[in-house]
Amino acid sequence: MTPGPTHVVRCPSCSQLGAYPTIASGNTFGAVYYTDGRRVAPMLPDTPSVVRCGGCSGVFWLESATEVGEYSPWGSDSESIDPTWTSAARLVEPEENQYVAALEQLIAAQPDKAKDARLFTWWRGNDQHRGSSPTVGKDSPEAVETRHHNMRALMGLLDTAEPIDQLMRAEVLRQLGEFELATKALTRHFPSQFDTAISRLLYMCARRDSTLQKL
Ligand SMILES: [Zn+2]
Repeated sequence: MTPGPTHVVRCPSCSQLGAYPTIASGNTFGAVYYTDGRRVAPMLPDTPSVVRCGGCSGVFWLESATEVGEYSPWGSDSESIDPTWTSAARLVEPEENQYVAALEQLIAAQPDKAKDARLFTWWRGNDQHRGSSPTVGKDSPEAVETRHHNMRALMGLLDTAEPIDQLMRAEVLRQLGEFELATKALTRHFPSQFDTAISRLLYMCARRDSTLQKL
């Protein structure tokens, strides 16, 4: 994995600078794919589309922030880099509850990305079940209700003509415990590239298993 330049942007709310690293080249060696469609690739980490400001805690679409500049974190010109860039706080993806709190504002800012906003929120909630040592806490009934509300809203935004969206709809249904509806959604015609995922999801529906799994 070769690091690319670190980008520096200005928070649209408070104007504080924030930074995020990029990857010049990487690969999917060791990548893990999950039933919710998220890929975790250690050698090719994703740059989050939605980030949280270290100054005002505001959550915003990264592409909506004004780029101030970029610098090479390993370059020989380090002495000429603006120190406010190198001291800028690292922008990170919001936690699930921070996504939830910002959802309305994110969708208002980019209405055509409502699906993405809800998808990222769902994935972030599932993140606690990923990795070699998932930290699974006991969520409050309110948190679960909020999560399910977002998942149902996400389903309403999925394209009924797109196989990938229909697969996602089935997975949302399965995670909601709607196993019959999920099974029905999986028994339509899908391109053969989805065979493995569909077999796995059908198997878990038959076991009435609603947990996130690796594919
Ligand atoms: Zn800010």
